[in-house]
Amino acid sequence: MAHPIVAIIGRPNVGKSTLFNRIIRKPLAITDDRPGVTRDRNAHEFEWNSRTFMLVDTGGYVLSTSDFMEQAVSEQSRLAIDEADVVLFIADVRNGITDMDNDIARLLRKSGKPVVLGIAKVDTTRYENEIYEFYNLGLGEPLPISGKTGFGSGDLLDRIVELLPSEEEMEEGENDEAVRIALIGRPNVGKSSIVNSISGANTVLVTDVPGTTRDAIDTRLVIDDQEVVLIDTAGLKRATKLKESLDYYSSLRTIRTLERCDVAIAVIDIDEGLTSYEKRLISDVEDAGKGLVLAANKWDLIEKDTMTMKRFETEIFDDIPDKAVYPVVFTSALTGQRVRKLLEKALEVNAKRHKRVKTSDLNDFVETLPHPPGSGDVRIFYATQYDVAPPSFAFMVNDEKKVKDNFARFVENCLRKEFDFEGTPIRLSFKRRGRARE
Ligand code: GDP
Ligand code: GDP
Repeated sequence: MAHPIVAIIGRPNVGKSTLFNRIIRKPLAITDDRPGVTRDRNAHEFEWNSRTFMLVDTGGYVLSTSDFMEQAVSEQSRLAIDEADVVLFIADVRNGITDMDNDIARLLRKSGKPVVLGIAKVDTTRYENEIYEFYNLGLGEPLPISGKTGFGSGDLLDRIVELLPSEEEMEEGENDEAVRIALIGRPNVGKSSIVNSISGANTVLVTDVPGTTRDAIDTRLVIDDQEVVLIDTAGLKRATKLKESLDYYSSLRTIRTLERCDVAIAVIDIDEGLTSYEKRLISDVEDAGKGLVLAANKWDLIEKDTMTMKRFETEIFDDIPDKAVYPVVFTSALTGQRVRKLLEKALEVNAKRHKRVKTSDLNDFVETLPHPPGSGDVRIFYATQYDVAPPSFAFMVNDEKKVKDNFARFVENCLRKEFDFEGTPIRLSFKRRGRARE
């Protein structure tokens, strides 16, 4: 089920990032068992009062020194209003209400979107009376908070959870057998063209399916008896000339799209390869635990000799060899070349993402697993697969503290070699044997 999106907005320097970091560090945040997850993330899956949502920080996209700061803040507020299920609007108690706060508040009131108003930097009781002024924003009760001390964050989260769409609403139109495939990537790489090419070659269903109101641009069709929903993130709903707004928009939009899909097709322009943008996208897909196929599009523009495809394939993953687990299909939306294959690959990846390995096979695997050099006296006793989509494994070991990243990666690579999880992230966790019974 897709998780609702909560976006934090507000002027630069009001304390958004500090609050975000404070909240996600809470012990209730879902812990990350995956090796090597240290990069900065601006979106975090978070659980509070038994509800899970994605908390998205927008801090950092607009610098207070930017010449276009005001324009950027208002654009990003609009985008957040479009994409988020609940907006967390932060103002700074030490500045009072500024003109820009008023502008954002006006947008929010007009939108009718659920809003939680947090007044930041209330570290001491000295400021408590000053929060009443913020009633004038017309957004309901201002909640005093401090990212620095953590004051007020529990009440703030309670309020957010109250305003989230219900689980039934989130499930609307999702509890069918269709496989959801999302096309993601930079503008102009050919996402819409690929959707059009697929739609042209297949029968598109025009049934009135509930839930499509959330995203009117979904395309529903049947491929080999399998119902497929294509989710196209193309076509910025609002034109924007500001680079940081575009980055912010794609990030928010992508997070939301990824929540809704089973498999993502990351479309890249073959001429440009994997830029830092696509590398980030791959990490986003992995974080969301969804399947991934790369479409190296505009293949028709490439001068080919027989070696070309193989060469491209190696070059694409040159500096990120770990990501070579994701298949690449060379497509041309223009001629339709391999567009069918792209879809088939996505369905194949979906099946692998749902694969369940028999416990006996898994334990045969553990028994024959070589002991890699440098892994000390880590011993694996047995393993279980406790989930699918993505496949998730727990390994019982003598001492989980001795399990280092490279050991975990080694086990992951061996698992992949043995059971073929092409195109899907897998989750590994290491636990001390018997601890659950202690
Ligand atoms: P953002 O631009 O809205 O994300 O703001 P930041 O979180 O980066 O914070 C901007 C500045 O305000 C930094 O210097 C923070 O140290 C400071 N700050 C943030 N939260 C608090 C707080 O709760 N209390 C105090 N006293 N300072 C804070
Ligand atoms: P989107 O923004 O990612 O949805 O990209 P579009 O589908 O709108 O395509 C952007 C431009 O690239 C359009 O002019 C397309 O005609 C062109 N285009 C898309 N796919 C291909 C392709 O496979 N080959 C060539 N030569 N052009 C393509």
